Amino acid sequence: MADDEDPKEYRWETGYEKTWEAIKEDERGLLQGSVAEIIQKAKRKRQAEKKGRLGMMRHVYVIVDCTENMGTQDLKPTRLVCTMKLLEVFVEEFFDQNPISQMGFIVLKSKRAEKISDLTGSSRKHIKAIRGLANLPLVGEPSLQNGLDFALKTLKMVPAHASREIIVIMGSLTTCDPTDIHVTIDGLRAEGIRCSVISLSAEVRICRYMTRETSGVYSVILDDAHFRDQLLQHVEPPPAARTQENSLIKMGFPHGRAEEGKDPALTLCMCHLDSTDDPSHLSVGGYQCPQCLSKYCELPIECITCGLTLVSAPHLARSYHHLFPVARFREVEWHEQAESCYACQKIFSEPQDKLIYQCETCEMFFCTDCDIFIHDDLHSCVGCCTLPATVASLQQGAFGRAQH
Ligand SMILES: [Zn+2]
Ligand SMILES: [Zn+2]
Ligand SMILES: [Zn+2]
Repeated sequence: MADDEDPKEYRWETGYEKTWEAIKEDERGLLQGSVAEIIQKAKRKRQAEKKGRLGMMRHVYVIVDCTENMGTQDLKPTRLVCTMKLLEVFVEEFFDQNPISQMGFIVLKSKRAEKISDLTGSSRKHIKAIRGLANLPLVGEPSLQNGLDFALKTLKMVPAHASREIIVIMGSLTTCDPTDIHVTIDGLRAEGIRCSVISLSAEVRICRYMTRETSGVYSVILDDAHFRDQLLQHVEPPPAARTQENSLIKMGFPHGRAEEGKDPALTLCMCHLDSTDDPSHLSVGGYQCPQCLSKYCELPIECITCGLTLVSAPHLARSYHHLFPVARFREVEWHEQAESCYACQKIFSEPQDKLIYQCETCEMFFCTDCDIFIHDDLHSCVGCCTLPATVASLQQGAFGRAQH
């Protein structure tokens, strides 16, 4: 995004992020701590960048390279197996944080692109598709263009209020394309589709060009922990693209239907109708579309019959924190301002707690772990939620009881 005006093309020219220099051994000669530090710095940086309108309803295609280079064993046991494991985590996490979004998977096999799961909001189907990759023979070269074209074709159909994204996981350094890939990239840019690339080997110019043109993120991984972090950054909704429309969407809130005094009727659900290996059974209960009364086993889902988006209120609540994130904590040096972390009560001590974090609203101090936990998982400040006044009165009450 900000790279637009950057005249320097390559990472080694900018000297901007010499990650290999930042890696230092700790006193036991281990590198882990250092990589953890890099990841944490990156997390804080991303927190700082968060602002503006977000693309909350997302349609994401994940394109996975499944060719010869994915068999390389620099990630354990192989690149492909490591990628599969991380993608499973990613899918779960993605639908946990973006319940009204959809995802689809495309694999790149020797010069062809193949869809392994449709654009849908059901994590079950995706995880099954990802597990199926284990038996794939890894041969040939990938064609990035074929993969992108495939995704573009489907994403073009998605209405313009949705945020459309492509995430490419590339293990290869080459791409073998039928025509000019710049045409495809221009097409993606014109549609406002955001393309991000995670490279498992090195920086490739065409991928960098593509991510820059489409306002995506380009990342080259250091190790599996860094890979995980780079992948999971795509869980957060990205800033809305300029082409994205603001519109109101009709949604349905189905109830689990149970009529009083009657035995509930046995009905078929719509979600298992077309699957052969897990066929639909007659059952009671389930969720009914308020518009056409089709029955579904799980939410959220888009009604197959009438196209209404069906959600439950907690799904919307889970997206809420993206809109009102906890403000970033101020980083301060520890000069015994506070004895312990306000959240976890850890006693601050040198040298682990050289830096501590302060909430600007409630002015409480937190340790590094709590800073990350509050912003990543809890999404509300421990200090602000436990008002000092209430806490003081509660404590007095407790002491009072203890004395009597
Ligand atoms: Zn319906
Ligand atoms: Zn703490
Ligand atoms: Zn606070």
